[in-house]
This record gives sequence, structure tokens and C-alpha cells, in this order.
Amino acid sequence: MATIIDGKALAKKTRANLKIECDKLKANGITPKLAVIMVGDNPASKVYVRNKSRACNEVGIEYQEYLLGEDSTQEELLELIRKLNKDEQVNGILLQSPLPVHLDINEAFKTITYSKDVDGFTPSSVGKLCIGEDTFISCTPYGVIKMFEEYNIDLNGKDVVILGRSNIVGKPLIQCCLQKNATVTVCHSKTKNLKEHTKRADVIIAAIGQAKFVTADMVKDGAVIIDVGINRGENGKLTGDVDFENVEKKASYITPVPGGVGPMTIAMLMNNVIKATEEQIKEKTTL
Ligand code: NAP
Repeated sequence: MATIIDGKALAKKTRANLKIECDKLKANGITPKLAVIMVGDNPASKVYVRNKSRACNEVGIEYQEYLLGEDSTQEELLELIRKLNKDEQVNGILLQSPLPVHLDINEAFKTITYSKDVDGFTPSSVGKLCIGEDTFISCTPYGVIKMFEEYNIDLNGKDVVILGRSNIVGKPLIQCCLQKNATVTVCHSKTKNLKEHTKRADVIIAAIGQAKFVTADMVKDGAVIIDVGINRGENGKLTGDVDFENVEKKASYITPVPGGVGPMTIAMLMNNVIKATEEQIKEKTTL
């Protein structure tokens, strides 16, 4: 039986440590502030932002939501981002995805100033990650790396297979695992013989958004399984991309859904807001 990687407990510990950092900032008269932009009325987004607001509350970060209507224009969205870029009270800006289809999310991400890019989605953050510079690492990949560190899972020389190549999960994960000296393979919807890749993997990170896609026959004995997927069944129950019940019997470590990568994603967002605030203070004092 595999060791269950307890993302919920690790996230709780991370938030408690961040609260100490946040209290120090407050003692110096600075309250970190996160601005969250939501466009339209996506029900899943509402759940995600509610969880982010709760985490902010626990750590002591001020949280403010900016709601734009479903039919908002690109210019209205960019104007709001530019206003928040200039607002000295705001330390981090998060644009909740998905956006309504008529809006260009990449252009919106590009408009967020680097120093407030707590989601790590701007070209500057992504570029810095690629060349191994300190930067804002997007929250889900960062949370996965923190789980490896907490459980002493050494990626050095290991075969890591990532399923999914999205800009927010799969691609930054490639860089994060490379920095840990893993040999990285990325599979996507056009990959041939995907099972051949997963069967030889020491570590599988599944981020494709298909319930129970990774089955026991795709996994070698003793593999580490990280399940990023969040799929909501007809009964409203959340399932990951991994057939947990059967894969758990073969794996050495496995993350559950819920209670795995999800809570860590939010904890790393809190981490990035504190980091942004501290770096903005440093920048001001060196001017
Ligand atoms: P996405 O943008 O939809 O990307 C999905 C990726 O999976 C794409 O690269 C796609 O390939 C690939 N894919 C889809 N079907 C496949 C198949 N049958 N075989 C191989 N590859 C396949 O998704 P995302 O935003 O990265 O999210 C992935 C999952 O993680 C979702 O369930 C999402 O809800 C979840 N998620 C969880 C967290 C968290 O905090 N736990 C955070 C973010 C996302 P192509 O590129 O070829 O289309």
C-alpha cells in the first residue's frame, strides 16, 4: 500500500508558517493584499475564489474581489489590471480563469506587472523559471514540488512522466522537475502509445482533466503518483485523473483527490503573495 501524500496537512502547516511571516509584516505596518479579478459567473471559479479568500483570512492577507460582468470588454479588463498594477495597497493580482471566450487571457496575463504576478503566469515569470532564476512559480507546480520535498522524494535521475502540457500546470512542471535533475517526458492528446511512457515512469504527474484516466496497468510497481486532476462527477463528487483505489495498491506514494494537490495550490498562492509583498518593500527601500 502506498504512503498517502497528505496535501491538506502540508497546506495547513504551510499556512501556519506564512501567518508568522505575515504577522511580522503587519508589525511593521504592512498588510499584504491580494486582488482577485473574476469575469462572469463560472460556478467552479466561485468555489475556487471562496477557498482562496478563506486561506487569505487564515494567513492574515487582505483579500479583495473585483467582479466584471460576463459581457465585459477586453479593454475594461486590461484597464482594471492597469489600475491594480498602480495601486500601492495591492501586492498581488490574480486573474481567475477561465475567462468568457471573447476575452484574450494571454494578453490579460501579459498586462499584470511582474512584481505582482502571484500566479506566475506572466512571460517574465515563465521566462525566469526556464532559465533557473528566482521568480514567482505558478502555484500548482510549486505545490507539487513542495510535496516532493516534504516527503523526501528525490527526483535526481528519475524518469518523470507528466500527462498534460497546459501553460498553467504541465509546462511549468517540466521546468520544476528539470531543476530537480529529473529526466522529463511530457505526454498530451497527440502522444502515441502513452502507456509505454507511463509504465516506465518512476514518477507520474497527471494533469489532463479526465476522471480515472491513469489505471493500475499503466503504472509500474513502486511509482510515485501525483494527481493534479479535478473532475466533478454527476453526483457532485470530486475525482482525480487517477484510479486511486487500484493504483494505490501499486504505488509507493500517491496524492488523493480531494486533499492532495488542491490545498497545496492555494497555500503556494499565499506564499507568493507574501513573497511579492516582501520584494516590493525591498525594492522601495533600495530606491
Ligand atoms: P487543460 O488546459 O485542459 O490541459 C489538459 C492537457 O491534457 C492538455 O495538454 C491535453 O493535451 C492533455 N490531454 C487531454 N486529454 C488527454 C488524453 N486523453 N491523453 C493525453 N493527454 C490528454 O487542463 P489544465 O488546466 O492543465 O488542468 C488539468 C487538470 O488539472 C484539470 O482537471 C484541472 O481541473 C486540474 N487542475 C487542478 C489544479 C489543482 O489545484 N489541483 C490546478 C489547476 C488545474 P493537448 O495539449 O494535446 O490538448
